[in-house]
Amino acid sequence: MPIDHWLDTLPQNNHGFVDGDLAALTAPHPFLSDQSASNQIERLSSHLGGLKSPVRRMIISYSLYIRQLDIILDAGPRNLCAGDCPRPPVGCCVNDYFVILRFMDLMNAQQSPVALQMAHVIGLLQKNESAHNLAQGRRLQNGYCKCLAEDGCTLRLFKSPRCAHYLCEGVEQAMQDFHKGQATAFLAAMHLTVSSSISSPSDFMNADCLTEAMPLFGALLA
Ligand code: SF4
Ligand code: SF4
Repeated sequence: MPIDHWLDTLPQNNHGFVDGDLAALTAPHPFLSDQSASNQIERLSSHLGGLKSPVRRMIISYSLYIRQLDIILDAGPRNLCAGDCPRPPVGCCVNDYFVILRFMDLMNAQQSPVALQMAHVIGLLQKNESAHNLAQGRRLQNGYCKCLAEDGCTLRLFKSPRCAHYLCEGVEQAMQDFHKGQATAFLAAMHLTVSSSISSPSDFMNADCLTEAMPLFGALLA
């Protein structure tokens, strides 16, 4: 799988925190197998071993969360993006939305140092992930988001919160139609997260998105 392939290329800098990180982060990841979650924790723990534990663990947690959201969106909501996007040619990828913190986030007087450091390190991981995917022969789509290739986004594990949670009205309606009106809670959680300011590590993700996805995407549960 492309995600594991990229993780396997990450320099392993410090193995000293792997056991502690595995113990701390083995909370249920309902849409990920134990093996995928463990491998991801191990690879990122060793790669980010030079960081302090709270930052390192929040970044790994974010990656586990985004991977699950990616699985959910790939199973249905992104069908419209691939086949019938109402905003051709590149849909909503018209700007550098991969940047983690928006102006409103940076202006937040309550901005936490851990969140700032997370944003910085995730930005570095984005560069690495995007470069890895481009090195597989993909080509950038010039003139739009700098992470957009001709065949789609070059980020999977470290999309920004706004990219990971954004669904246009067309996708929302398609989901409601498919799920016979039962997608309201999931869509509300996604919408709330994409529109909320980020001022602390917990603002990067929203467990409700996964919880509300379970009744809709139960077949994907690990
Ligand atoms: S979310 Fe909507 S606008 Fe964005 S790529 Fe998908 S279908 Fe297109
Ligand atoms: S990071 Fe990916 S999803 Fe987000 S705007 Fe850029 S190409 Fe689109």
